[in-house]
Amino acid sequence: MSTQVEEHSNTPSGSAAGTPAATGSNPAGSTPSTLARAKKPARPKKSNGQWKVDGQEPLNKNEIDKAEDNGLNVRERIETVYAKGGFSSIDSDDLHGRFRWWGLYTQRKPGIDGGRTAKLEPHELEDEYFMMRIRTDGGQLSLAQLRTIADISNDFARGSADLTDRQNIQLHWVEIENVPEIWRRLEAVDMQTTEACGDVPRGFLGSPVAGIAADELIDPTPTIKEITSRYIGDPSLSNLPRKYKTAITGHPSQDVLHEINDCSLVAVEHPEHGIGYDLWVGGALSVVPRFAERLGAWVAPDQAVDVWLGVTEIFRDYGYRRLRNKARMKFLLADWGPEKFREVLETEYLGYKLADGPAPKKPEVAGDHVGVHRQKDGRFYIGTSLIAGRASGTLLHQIADIAEKFGTDRIRLTPHQKILLLDIAETEVDDVVAELDTIGLSSRKDLFRRSVMACTGIEFCKLAIVETKQTAIDAVTRLEERLADIDELPHPISLHINGCPNSCARIQTADIGLKGQIVTTDDGEQVAGFQVHVGGGLASKDRDEAGLGRTVRGLKVTVDGLNDYVEKLVRRFLAGREETET
Ligand code: SF4
Repeated sequence: MSTQVEEHSNTPSGSAAGTPAATGSNPAGSTPSTLARAKKPARPKKSNGQWKVDGQEPLNKNEIDKAEDNGLNVRERIETVYAKGGFSSIDSDDLHGRFRWWGLYTQRKPGIDGGRTAKLEPHELEDEYFMMRIRTDGGQLSLAQLRTIADISNDFARGSADLTDRQNIQLHWVEIENVPEIWRRLEAVDMQTTEACGDVPRGFLGSPVAGIAADELIDPTPTIKEITSRYIGDPSLSNLPRKYKTAITGHPSQDVLHEINDCSLVAVEHPEHGIGYDLWVGGALSVVPRFAERLGAWVAPDQAVDVWLGVTEIFRDYGYRRLRNKARMKFLLADWGPEKFREVLETEYLGYKLADGPAPKKPEVAGDHVGVHRQKDGRFYIGTSLIAGRASGTLLHQIADIAEKFGTDRIRLTPHQKILLLDIAETEVDDVVAELDTIGLSSRKDLFRRSVMACTGIEFCKLAIVETKQTAIDAVTRLEERLADIDELPHPISLHINGCPNSCARIQTADIGLKGQIVTTDDGEQVAGFQVHVGGGLASKDRDEAGLGRTVRGLKVTVDGLNDYVEKLVRRFLAGREETET
């Protein structure tokens, strides 16, 4: 059976563990025989809460809450009780747990500075308003859907709408009284907040150019649609040990961050069987980053749904549930290794062997899709940058107006907080680019706009220490002015800004990753700032494989010193780099 992360560090090793020599203790008057009698029996192994190994006895408060009542059930209470009774009528276990199963978190009270975040109880930090996360699995939106979200934003969310790096849309300032009406409007255009948060299969990352890119290997859309229509909201998969993230792409740029998802399918050509998917398992960032590993298995397109289900069920049945911070799939994979994982998948879940398969080739094109690109049908798609995903109801309506004017009904969101307009006629590309520019959306390969990301940060997130969105907007504006003498970078320099040590904006996979924390200035003042990670990235046309950015001891910057630091770093890099160095 698996070795377990916790027990490696806690279990005394070998027979010497209980002996005086090993412990250094020899109580006065003890004889060897009394010592032998006093020897404690070996401590029983602690259960790690793996359902198939240890049974389903819940081992912590989260597991108890999930066992007592499935998170999906809270919807009925929201509609019949809480929306009528208001915020004060909400049961605490629902508010701080089950609401997530429907994409709802309380947001941070305004005005609480980052230095106090860790010292306050949750109820002192939280506001009576909600963040609501809307899924767009694969990032695909019609104009009707975009306009519906824009209207909801304006009617119920004070105009807020942020595009996340998981192709979701987040609204803020939502009141519980309005949630049923928001669901009604979303569902009328086939959208949902179901399982957008919680210990469930979260929104799927899918290639933003699925079905349209001229160089696509396979369109993953039918697979994503089949999985999400069958299994999102399925109670049998709604109590996983922790959150569970999926990524599927058929594009050779590998544009869905497969290395940092729990389960990923990446298109690959098999020499005998043709185009299918390469299976990756067990990636995630957060404070203990780990890249996914290939299982070496080739997945035929008609096996993809089964394989996703099998991997997800393994996580449900064997994932560790004792400690929340050891419950992600990455810890199970670290203990099992890819060979055992594949064997369990094939023998216990699929009932058949998967073919061995090759690794996907190194990408030869950029995966952010910014700029103008020809589609397979001869029309064009335009990838455009809004800074750090910050949008609004008004902006979403403006985008919809432009799309409609030029005859397209299709919009895509990317895992880089960017937005694509599809199906533009060649003769109209320049006009669309110009109109997008007038509303602040750039289709150029700008120095930073293209590759800056930011998490929610202190504006709304209860865990945040530092402000992020406005910091990103200011940094892009200032840096593009300061570095105006540089026409083009050898490759985009990614700058990812996080409001705390979690890694929602992927600190460790950026050229420059910033982790929010309180830092001490030379004058001894404690101010908002960042620890700097440098040199990270995922496999792309600019690097052979994924690598984690490194922290350098003492390398911290204040928010105010950020632009100076980045400018200096970029100039030094450009001055000192070798021809092929990224
Ligand atoms: Fe909140 Fe921290 Fe995640 Fe940013 S990285 S959204 S501050 S938890």
